[in-house]
Parts: sequence; structure tokens; C-alpha cells
Amino acid sequence: MRIGASQPHDKLEALREMRVIAIDGPAGSGKSSVAQALAARLGLEYLDTGAMYRAVTFAVLRAGGDPSDSGFTAAVARTIDVRVTGERVLVDGVDATVEIRSPSVDRAVSVVAANAEVRAEMVARQREWARRRDGGVVEGRDIGTVVFPEADLKVYLKADPDVRALRRARQSGALDHTAEAGAVESVAADLARRDTIDSTRQAGPLSVASDAVVIDTTEKTFDETIEQILGLV
Ligand code: C5P
Repeated sequence: MRIGASQPHDKLEALREMRVIAIDGPAGSGKSSVAQALAARLGLEYLDTGAMYRAVTFAVLRAGGDPSDSGFTAAVARTIDVRVTGERVLVDGVDATVEIRSPSVDRAVSVVAANAEVRAEMVARQREWARRRDGGVVEGRDIGTVVFPEADLKVYLKADPDVRALRRARQSGALDHTAEAGAVESVAADLARRDTIDSTRQAGPLSVASDAVVIDTTEKTFDETIEQILGLV
């Protein structure tokens, strides 16, 4: 699946007939695993838009660029080739599956994603991706508010910060028995910092769409969350 450069015919009107399920929320709320399982259950394709912002960040850092240099970062966003094949993410032909989840990308991604020109390019590519498939399950921060305001179903997942940090630390393998508290603390600090930048930026901030169904996953099992969303579908 190539997430190609934007096309001139990218118009909101053309998106109205599609079947889009938008899953938004902060990191660690369970978005990725829920969106993937949902897509599999419904026979739809799945798009992780966070991976796209991570890919741009990876390419900027690899080129020796400064993530806060908005002109350079926007130029990278416009020309980057991002391909998602199964679990693999290729950035300009380089397998960056592991690197896009590295601490250096974690630190810089929210600054890159706050750049309005970067967002305009990514949003256009996300709409083009869905247009080519007549829809899909799309996961991110601004999917129900900006990218697909006409989505058939909008879900906003949230969870207590401590639970989100614990989930992220487990996912990244940062936990071992000797350093458990420290690992969770440092993940919690990174999530809090990203949450602040993501929800206070001008362009496409993390926020709950007025017509989104908010699900708190703090005390829910994965299966309970999936069943609740399938009920809404
Ligand atoms: O979902 P994930 O944590 O991988 O996203 C990484 C970062 O990408 C977020 O912290 C946010 O800054 C950015 N992002 C965004 N808009 C999206 C998806 C992700 O700004 N739709």
C-alpha cells in the first residue's frame, strides 16, 4: 500500500460516499490494536496515520535536519515516499519499521506534526488513501475532526494516563523486573509532553469531535472495547 503524494482532485465532497470509521485518541488509549482488530473483523483496510508523521520525522532526522525547521520539514513531507506493507513501513525505500518507534522519533514527532504544512500534505494523502479504497478504518488524532468530518462512525478512545503509560511501556518492551517503575515513569513523561503539544497546536489538535462516541478503555478488556464498537457499527 503506497501512501502517495496528494492529488489535485482531493475534495471533501468526493469523500461523502465512503465508509470511514475514525478512531482518535491519545497514545496508549488502545487505538492501534482496536483499529486493526476492527478492520480485520469488518473486512476493511486499516491506516495508522501516526506512522505517517513518524515516517516524516524519521526522514528529517536521517537527513540531519532540525525538526523545528518548518520549511525543511514541510519539503520532506511533500516529497517523502511512505509504503506500508503488512507490518513493515518503508520510507523512501528504506525499511524504517523499528526506527519510526525509536526514542529519537518519539521526542521529535509532535513538533513535526504541529507544522501546518506537514499536516496539510498528510491529510491530503490520508483522504486519497481512503478514496482509493472507498473507505477504511483510520486511526489518529484529527481523523473525526479534520480528515473525515463526514465519517460514518467516530470513536474517541481515552484512558487514565498511568494505564496508558503502562501499556506503552509494555508494548515497547521497556519493562523489566528491575527497572519497572523508572521505565513507566519515563514513558509517562513522554506521553504527557506529546499530549500537551498535540492538544494545544493550532492545526488539527487532538480533540473530541462533537459527534464522536467516547469510550474510556481504562477498565475495559480489549474484547469489551471491540464488542462495544462493533455494536455501534
Ligand atoms: O499514534 P502515535 O503515537 O504513533 O502518533 C505519533 C505522533 O504523531 C503523535 O504524538 C502526534 O504528534 C502525531 N499524530 C498527529 N495526527 C495524527 C496521528 C498522529 O498529529 N492523525
